[in-house]
Amino acid sequence: MLQPSHLPDPPQQEEAFIGEPRPEDPPLSERGGRGAPAPTGASAVSSARDRGKVIALGAMGALVAVGIGLMAASPRRAGAPAPSLALTTSGDLAANTNADPAVAKQANLAVVDPSSPIVRPPPQWRVTALKDDPNVEVSEGKFGKRGIVATLTEAGLPRPEIKRLAQAFEGVRRIDRPRESDSFVLAKGKNNGRLLAFEYATSPLDVWQGRVDDSSAERRIVVKKLDLFVEHRRVAHGLVVSADLAKAIAAAGMRPEIVDAVDDALEGHVDPGSIRSGVRMRVAATEDWVEGTFARVKVEAIEFVPTTGSPLRVYFYERDPREVDASPRRAPAPGFYDARGKQPYRGQFRSPVSLARVTSRFNPKRLHPVLKVVRPHQGVDFAGAPGTPVYASASGTVTTAGNGGPCGNMVEISHGGGINTIYCHLKGFAQGLRSGQKVEARQLIGYVGQTGRVTGPHLHFGVKKNGAFIDPLALKMDGVRVLPPADRDAFQRRRADLDAVIDGVALPSAADVPDENEDKDLHGE
Ligand SMILES: [Zn+2]
Repeated sequence: MLQPSHLPDPPQQEEAFIGEPRPEDPPLSERGGRGAPAPTGASAVSSARDRGKVIALGAMGALVAVGIGLMAASPRRAGAPAPSLALTTSGDLAANTNADPAVAKQANLAVVDPSSPIVRPPPQWRVTALKDDPNVEVSEGKFGKRGIVATLTEAGLPRPEIKRLAQAFEGVRRIDRPRESDSFVLAKGKNNGRLLAFEYATSPLDVWQGRVDDSSAERRIVVKKLDLFVEHRRVAHGLVVSADLAKAIAAAGMRPEIVDAVDDALEGHVDPGSIRSGVRMRVAATEDWVEGTFARVKVEAIEFVPTTGSPLRVYFYERDPREVDASPRRAPAPGFYDARGKQPYRGQFRSPVSLARVTSRFNPKRLHPVLKVVRPHQGVDFAGAPGTPVYASASGTVTTAGNGGPCGNMVEISHGGGINTIYCHLKGFAQGLRSGQKVEARQLIGYVGQTGRVTGPHLHFGVKKNGAFIDPLALKMDGVRVLPPADRDAFQRRRADLDAVIDGVALPSAADVPDENEDKDLHGE
């Protein structure tokens, strides 16, 4: 299935990259939850200390190990050897994922001793532990666009303490220019404002901690990078898209955090209009667990099986300089490539709701469901439960955030070039969203609702070009990136590994899903 015996002919170097690489997606950690229960479904566990050394490989219930070599599925650290991952699948795989026993047999299953549990070292002390202390004030968050001084001043840390902290971090980790997605935890005395402890994190796995040594007269700040116990769990799930996406995700044993990542992965490869009830997917992903707590999930590969037409597989690929001869040639943009090493992309425009089904299309000749007169449908309706996040389709400037009459709570964004996008019937707006504000692509702007003249919750999404409405789904792909020849062998190895993971989960049956809400006109206007 979708495994051509060879890649296409090497593209000319000039063709390898057309247009600008799209901006890096925000780290998954931004969408990650904490403390949620472990998912059902096939999962791979490898337990590794921060240095990438495998410490233990153990049981999650009754375990079976699949005897296929797998590349490390997690982002690797520079200079650190790749942790060797062993794929393990839970014993009741069939019950959880409708796995075909024949598929399991093909995967060469071997039983692992279930009596050898994961040996986790004692967890590291974390600043959040001070939250229970009534004499301590703990504040935390992302830096966003603020610098370190503004952030810590806002958190109430006196200037001299900020200076002491910055000096203490010198030589260990630069903290003076945080990235927007970097986060911090600060603990200070409630009464005296004195610094007690501080953490700076570039990811849930990469945390630097400064802690005041109260036993020293000068209150020395001891700074170190935390040696966190990280487990990489490879998981695979079969999903059938149904009218209620959240329910379908839960039924597949998938974490809700994975939805946006799956949407990101399919971007460009799949026409947003083809996501409908009965669409099936097999998703291979890696979860990172830090000290026994879920931290983030990263999608590795997806098989997309539309209701009509051919299935498609996409694979995440990022050049590893140790694997690919690092010639002076530019590395390909990290992202999802199809089996032929191609990545179509759609400029900067994105579907405003992740993995949302289109329930009503752009239709200039639409017959109104109630009035029975021709009333054009000037946009596309996306299904979504009330409260589902709505994202800016592209970067731009908010021109309206307020009451839009029949459109309900409405956001309009101007993107330049005469293009505006409109988002209707919102339940509410992103906190602080206002007219004149600049927004990035995929920035949260509001939530699906049913305000205005509607008969049910959905997002009405419109695109205007020079003042006239156009079909949002007709926005054409802007180009195709092709992996350069130097990366092809590495990509093929990765693809073979991920194909084995996907093949290890049975494709769920599409017949299981009732299609109760497809293409229902929810408009009253
Ligand atoms: Zn509509």
